[in-house]
Amino acid sequence: MKVIEHIAQAKDTLVSFEILPPLKGKGMSAIYEHLDPLMEFKPSFINVTYHRRETMFKKKADGTFEKVEVRKRPGTVGICAAVMNHYQIDAVPHLICGGFSKRETEDALIDLNFVGIDNVLVLRGDASKNEANFEPQPDGHRYAIDLLKQVVDLNNGVYLEEEITNGVKTNFCMGIAGYPEKHFEAPNLETDLAFLKSKIEAGAEYIMTQMFFNNQKYFEFVKNCREHGITVPVIPGLKAITNKKQLNILPKIFHVDIPNELSLEIMKAKTDDDVEKIGIEWLVQQSKELKAAGVPVLHYYTLGKSKTIENVVKEVR
Ligand code: FAD
Repeated sequence: MKVIEHIAQAKDTLVSFEILPPLKGKGMSAIYEHLDPLMEFKPSFINVTYHRRETMFKKKADGTFEKVEVRKRPGTVGICAAVMNHYQIDAVPHLICGGFSKRETEDALIDLNFVGIDNVLVLRGDASKNEANFEPQPDGHRYAIDLLKQVVDLNNGVYLEEEITNGVKTNFCMGIAGYPEKHFEAPNLETDLAFLKSKIEAGAEYIMTQMFFNNQKYFEFVKNCREHGITVPVIPGLKAITNKKQLNILPKIFHVDIPNELSLEIMKAKTDDDVEKIGIEWLVQQSKELKAAGVPVLHYYTLGKSKTIENVVKEVR
């Protein structure tokens, strides 16, 4: 079932989770061990992130270096299929522009369609680690909207090969990313919202937000969306802080602010266990307030911390 159908049929705020594929070398058991404790919360869907290839330099026996392209967390399509089969829960694979040509994207969409997946979260992806700015693949997409338009084309039976005239129409429900604190590259929130709106006009059906630690940022973002004529559901993305290092890492990687009240409390904590307790308590309060405000879904970034998220969600039910 599509994310948008889950939301339309819901009588209360839903719960969903995002997982990362395990590092190469680990099996599906790593995913099941991670997800099993979260199943009691009956998530409506589970998102699986996508990780692009990274360029690495491997030292050879003769002392010179060889450039290799490595995907450390492959398997998004397979994990989605396994999750759907094992738990009978809808899976939402993330689809990115970075590292993909249009033809590779088309093949990935065909695979997803064959295994019965009808949801995708359409994203640009970040610059690869050795690039200062995002660079598309040769014959790839520069912006998420271009990838979105390719999915729309396939939903209309339009394939890259023009000779396919009567192609099967896929039926993907498309979500996109939204940034309550602005995407870091956008010159201002107004411009960011204009691009967001163009993705909705192109066919995206809901927005899933970047993590935030101050609910006011989410409420203002939704208000701004509505004032700009964006009427689709806006799903809040939520994460618990679990160690002190994240006070600096999260703003650096995700370009989000951590409220002073929260950072002061975390800085006073003596151990990471204490930090985790503070992070859980904060996220419980955030979740309760968002639920009371009637958000469609509470979407939790588990990031390998299913026990932490279990402790949050059981307090919020
Ligand atoms: P875009 O919509 O392409 O926007 C990127 C920037 O360009 C923005 O500043 C925007 O304002 C601007 N822009 C948009 N359209 C245009 C245009 N037509 N002309 C000029 N400027 C434009 N990354 C991964 O690699 N894998 C994942 O699995 C993943 N999952 C994510 C899940 C969520 C919920 C979120 C919020 C992010 C996720 N990301 C993931 C990170 C995401 O790929 C990055 O934040 C990326 O930098 C931007 O992606 P986007 O889809 O918002 O890009």
